[in-house]
Amino acid sequence: NQAKIGKVSSGRYSPDLEEKMAWRLGIIRQLRQDFEHHKLEVWYQPQLCFKSLQVIGCEALLRWPSGNGNYISPAVFVPLAEDAGLIVDIGQWVLEQACLQQRQLASVGCDISVAVNVSVPQFKVPHYAERVKETLTRHQIPANKIELEVTESVVMDDIGGVVATLQELKEFGVEVAIDDFGTGFSSLSYLQKLPLARLKIDRAFIKDIPETDSGAIASLVIALGKSLGLKTIAEGVETEAQAAILKQLGCDEVQGFLYAKPMKADELLIFLQQHKACKV
Ligand code: C2E
Ligand code: MG
Ligand code: MG
Ligand code: MG
Repeated sequence: NQAKIGKVSSGRYSPDLEEKMAWRLGIIRQLRQDFEHHKLEVWYQPQLCFKSLQVIGCEALLRWPSGNGNYISPAVFVPLAEDAGLIVDIGQWVLEQACLQQRQLASVGCDISVAVNVSVPQFKVPHYAERVKETLTRHQIPANKIELEVTESVVMDDIGGVVATLQELKEFGVEVAIDDFGTGFSSLSYLQKLPLARLKIDRAFIKDIPETDSGAIASLVIALGKSLGLKTIAEGVETEAQAAILKQLGCDEVQGFLYAKPMKADELLIFLQQHKACKV
């Protein structure tokens, strides 16, 4: 057993706290450096209307190259960037990239919307809504072409402040979606208070359909969305069987590997042209 412990603690995921802290600090330092050297990338994953299969938008997703064509997952580094406060600058950069991308696509006739993920520390920046408005105005982007995705953690962090911020964004014309909906253990009562446009059904409630899950939770979220007047979008749809069930349940929109994986901007343009999402 001693040998096993020795082996484990020499690895990256050491239970030894000090080593873990050193690993995290190393990652954060590298991330800051790569961000400053413009090495981060933003990829885009198409979102489609379930009925028409028309592309309605895309989600901007961070990518951190680690060499040899490999990437460190944002699921790993975004939480570290949040803790280190780095996500505020990185997030603003993602928003700027999304604006540039939207303008670029619109200029060739593909006037789709771009959704951007927003973390808790970004929402806490004073006058956050003002900052978003300033960014869109500077890029001359119509407000309805940029959507924000926030998780329940953002909402639960400071419900009063979030309602005011979302209200300001809505008045400006920016729509907001609740990401990973149903995974945050928050009370449903907040939903009525928030000026939202969309619920994103988390992949957790989709991945086992139809084998071990009949889609009970997905069905509930779709019904909830309908009764609150919100659109629903299914995340992480990978199979035709899942798509058929979700569509039948009345889900409005879909995003998943079945249709398209996240891709670089130039590939997105080709995808959009192939899917006739551009008016030329
Ligand atoms: P998310 O916002 O829920 O994004 C959806 C994730 O699901 C993406 O993972 C996407 O690649 C993945 N996905 C989409 N369709 C499928 C599918 O059919 N199958 C599977 N297995 N996965 C699918 P990704 O790109 O690794 O991002 C992970 C998370 O990192 C995001 O989850 C989001 O929470 C965070 N993130 C990514 N970019 C940003 C960013 O710019 N800012 C912030 N604050 N967070 C970000
Ligand atoms: Mg998202
Ligand atoms: Mg999600
Ligand atoms: Mg997520």
